[in-house]
Amino acid sequence: MGGGIETVVVDGMAIANQLRDGMKTEIEALVAGGYRAPHLVVVLVGDDPASKSYIKGKQRACTRIGADSSEHILPESTSEKELLELLDRLNADDSVDGILVQLPLPKHISPETIAEAVDPAKDADGIHPLNFGRLLLGNARLISCTPLGVMAVLERHGIEIAGKHAVVIGRSNIVGKPVSILLQQQNATVTMCHSRTQDLAGVCRSADILVAAAGKPRMVKGDWIRPGAAVMDVGVSEVDGKLIGDVDFDAAQGIAAIITPSRRGIGPMTITMLLRNTLNAYLSRKGIEPTR
Ligand code: NAP
Repeated sequence: MGGGIETVVVDGMAIANQLRDGMKTEIEALVAGGYRAPHLVVVLVGDDPASKSYIKGKQRACTRIGADSSEHILPESTSEKELLELLDRLNADDSVDGILVQLPLPKHISPETIAEAVDPAKDADGIHPLNFGRLLLGNARLISCTPLGVMAVLERHGIEIAGKHAVVIGRSNIVGKPVSILLQQQNATVTMCHSRTQDLAGVCRSADILVAAAGKPRMVKGDWIRPGAAVMDVGVSEVDGKLIGDVDFDAAQGIAAIITPSRRGIGPMTITMLLRNTLNAYLSRKGIEPTR
């Protein structure tokens, strides 16, 4: 497969752990200085087992860095009005720094309405329209977690972005659009692709940095990848009980310079950036300049 290039497989968990250790030290210093720990509140409506497991993972990650976390698990029958009332209380509660409403929500609750109801200063997921607008303007404090995770991997691996061609497959509000904006702000020339893009393979072949976020298992073939490209595979799909990325991982070996695997790749980085957003929200609310 491929030839000549020794592909580096990104250890997202190792990068995540380093960043989490840094945040733990920051929080220890804050607590030693008389401040309370940052506090993330996770809200889940319904009892989807996957969502329950995600929120447990997020809470464990909080505990590991010395942040507080709490949860509100509401029945599937909860009305939008009841959820909005809970968010009003959490917005007004000074002991709460970050609020995350786990998606997907039941069909009778509008995710857009809920995203807008979270105080933008506590928007741990970075999805409030105000934060999205600030991202476009280049002065966002809270940014969607997965795009931040992708950027952190590129930074940790010393991937040059300025002047390079970045191709992003996907234009969703939580991944494709924000990661495209972040790459452009670091002076990449960005092509954002979607389901109507013509000659997707050809466009991908010209990418120095390829971010795949379509949710289509093994869609990106080996010969779509430019030799030496940095491949960030965000996609996660379950196929026959296994998690599969958007990129044909085996075929990319020997062609890509670096690639994120579907396990221990972007996933742990996303949770890490949720922690970073919570810590940054806390610091901003306390008038302390965030370090990142
Ligand atoms: P989404 O909202 O479904 O968006 C998918 C995007 O991909 C859309 O813009 C769609 O185009 C595009 N697309 C779909 N099929 C395509 C094709 N054949 N060719 C080109 N573009 C295509 O998904 P998302 O929420 O952004 O998530 C994307 C993937 O990332 C999913 O697998 C998700 O599970 C994964 N994810 C992983 C993490 C993590 O932490 N690892 C976090 C978030 C998401 P249109 O706009 O034209 O429909």
